[in-house]
Amino acid sequence: MKGVGADEPYWLALSAGQLKLPECSACGKAHWPAVWRCGECGSWEQQWTSFELSGTIFSWARTWHEFGASKEFGLPYVSVVVEIDNADGRRLLGTIAGNTENIRIGDRVHGEVISVNIEDENIPALRWYLDGNSSASKASNSGVTL
Ligand SMILES: [Zn+2]
Repeated sequence: MKGVGADEPYWLALSAGQLKLPECSACGKAHWPAVWRCGECGSWEQQWTSFELSGTIFSWARTWHEFGASKEFGLPYVSVVVEIDNADGRRLLGTIAGNTENIRIGDRVHGEVISVNIEDENIPALRWYLDGNSSASKASNSGVTL
C-alpha cells in the first residue's frame, strides 16, 4: 500500500492486521488523525503503539442507500465510530457486522481488520462486532460477503 503521509504507519500496520496509533514520546498522548507534531506539548517525537481492536461505540448510522464504493457491504449496513480502549479518547470509523438491531451508543465492541476492494485496490478496513457476538458466527448470519 502506498504511503499517504503522517498516517503511513497506520496503513502499513493495518495491512498487517494490527492497529497502531501514534503516541507522543514526550507526553504520552495518543493522536488520531496522525500528526507530525504533538498538539498537547509540541514535541516532534512520535512512537507508533499497538492497540487492541476493542472499544465503545461513540456513534453509529444505518445506511439504506448504496453509495459509490460500498457495494461490498450490502444493504443496509451500519457504520460506527468507535472510541478505542486506552487511546486517550481517539476514535476510528468502521462498519459493524452481526445483529445490530439493538445497537446503542456506549455498546462495547471488538474488531478485526478486513480487506475492502475499492476501485480495484484492496484497502484494509475495520469491521466491528458487538461484544458477545463471535465474529465467525455473526459474519455468516449477516449477509456480509467481504
Ligand atoms: Zn506530547
